[in-house]
Amino acid sequence: MSTTPSQTPIDYDVLIVGAGFAGLYALHKMRQSGFSAHIFEAGNGVGGTWYWNRYPGCRCDIESIHYSYQFDEDLQQDWVWTERYATQPEILSYIEHVADRFDLRKDIDLNTRVTDALWQEEDSCWLVKTETGQEVRARYCIMATGPLSVPNMPEFKGLETFTGDTYHTGLWPHDGVDFKGKRVAIIGTGSSAIQSIPLIAKQAKHLTVFQRTANYAIPAANRPLNAGELDAVKADYATLRTRGKQYPTTIPVDPAGPSALDVSDDERENIYEEWWQTKGLMFQATFADLLFVDEANDTVSDFVRRKIQSLVEDPKVAAILTPENPFGCKRMCVDTDYYKTFNRTNVTLVDVKETPIDRIVPNGVLVGETTYDIDAVIFATGYDAVTGAMTKMNIRGRDNIGLREKWGDSPASLLGITIHGFPNLFTINGPGSPSALVNMITGSEHHVDWIADCLLHLRESGNTMIEADKSAEDSWMAHNQVVGQASIRSACDSWYLGANIPGKPRVFMPYLGGFPAYAEKCAAVARDGYEGLEIA
Ligand code: FAD
Ligand code: NAP
Repeated sequence: MSTTPSQTPIDYDVLIVGAGFAGLYALHKMRQSGFSAHIFEAGNGVGGTWYWNRYPGCRCDIESIHYSYQFDEDLQQDWVWTERYATQPEILSYIEHVADRFDLRKDIDLNTRVTDALWQEEDSCWLVKTETGQEVRARYCIMATGPLSVPNMPEFKGLETFTGDTYHTGLWPHDGVDFKGKRVAIIGTGSSAIQSIPLIAKQAKHLTVFQRTANYAIPAANRPLNAGELDAVKADYATLRTRGKQYPTTIPVDPAGPSALDVSDDERENIYEEWWQTKGLMFQATFADLLFVDEANDTVSDFVRRKIQSLVEDPKVAAILTPENPFGCKRMCVDTDYYKTFNRTNVTLVDVKETPIDRIVPNGVLVGETTYDIDAVIFATGYDAVTGAMTKMNIRGRDNIGLREKWGDSPASLLGITIHGFPNLFTINGPGSPSALVNMITGSEHHVDWIADCLLHLRESGNTMIEADKSAEDSWMAHNQVVGQASIRSACDSWYLGANIPGKPRVFMPYLGGFPAYAEKCAAVARDGYEGLEIA
């Protein structure tokens, strides 16, 4: 227990909520910086996303050589990724290795869900309460609660009457599910569904896919990594990581050209074909203007639509699977044999756009006049993204203001890291940070490093309180909206905008200006003595 200058006993300098990639690194970094730190984690293990998501086919879609920590050279030299895109079990074993390697577990309470965080004005600290009745006081709080950690369960009438089994991809049973001989329904066709559908179709007696909005999915082109390939990366890993941070997405892939409109039709087609076969998610970066110029976007939307029509044998099914939205306005999906799965005789696609699911009935799913007989329903219905984990808690800042109320109209934050009215509280990948638009491990490490520098600055200057100014927060969020509107990414209903959750304010939450501009802004704030933040 440490004692603060105001003589108020506190339990920890820093209380961290969440033991995913972000929280674990925060714990390590805070300890290294000489702060006492502790994690509360709701799950019964470390890993966050990779602890909860155990559905068939779950894996990263940013290449593992990038989707991994970079803070420790020995760690990145020692770890051996076996596939271009690691599976969930491999990523989880990596995270567990990190927890052991840096002796993190002794400072983590598992099965401990934080319910309240209450600012104690007189003591300049946070009182944090948990579901298990624990109460601790911490000078600073880091909310590493995850941008995609609160599963979205839409309200389907009659769900309670269903006699079969139900699952959500983000809360998957740890010992797996055997669908052999079962008639399975999956609701949703986002990334989670697109990864799991091909594998579940191979196992189930019949799979019925309920699709509301068709999505674009790019072939992952996954394959085993060979030793020579990994060795080449490791020979100069640091340079690769540094290069990455110079790219908007933090992934060091150069576009084939600045504009899809600068090349002839034949040349463009050949380039798309080559990138389609090899680049996975980075297909979206084939030309630099694809997500900014409508005419350029039309060329790539058209290319992928034609691909879908060539992969799916039944033209009616292909038409339903063909997206109407512009390419890239929803988060891109990456697949292995997704479209071809609809050629299987045991797979049915149901379009629920015009005629939504009416209700769940005891033996299945009712759409219009048709009942689909089902033994198990999988909800691949996504997340209350970016803000959901924060607004689920009762977080009260200065003058007892609740975060839920503050974010009721718009999720305001300075840099996605600090919030006016909530001193000494930091978020990782919060609204107004690049979050899901970059490799999120790189983004998390960047946030944690910034916060550590900030806390060291406070300690060295004898201060114990920092809070974002309202005007700085407002101008950052205004800038965020201007940048967001320049991109096609904000052009349709998506979780980026909160559009998937009824009643959620429609604000494009991730910062779209690219990682280099964002990192420079963060650095400038620190360099200028934490300009835009009040220190006391
Ligand atoms: P999380 O991993 O979500 O961890 C947050 C933790 O906080 C959770 O364990 C949760 O239980 C805990 N928590 C939340 N609220 C509370 C509370 N009140 N009390 C206590 N604990 C709490 N990103 C990429 O960049 N590349 C990818 O390829 C990629 N693939 C993904 C695949 C899936 C299936 C999903 C769902 C997301 C994927 N993401 C990907 C995004 C992914 O969420 C991030 O990359 C990253 O894992 C987030 O780490 P985190 O530590 O910030 O949050
Ligand atoms: P998602 O992208 O939000 O997809 C949810 C799906 O459920 C959508 O198709 C949505 O349709 C549908 N849906 C929601 N409510 C519905 C309703 N009432 N009726 C019918 N359909 C409904 O969620 P996700 O697939 O879990 O992915 C979330 C994010 O996690 C991804 O965007 C990505 O960032 C990350 N992720 C990454 C990977 C990876 O490949 N590494 C895998 C999984 C997840 P609408 O589109 O019409 O709303």
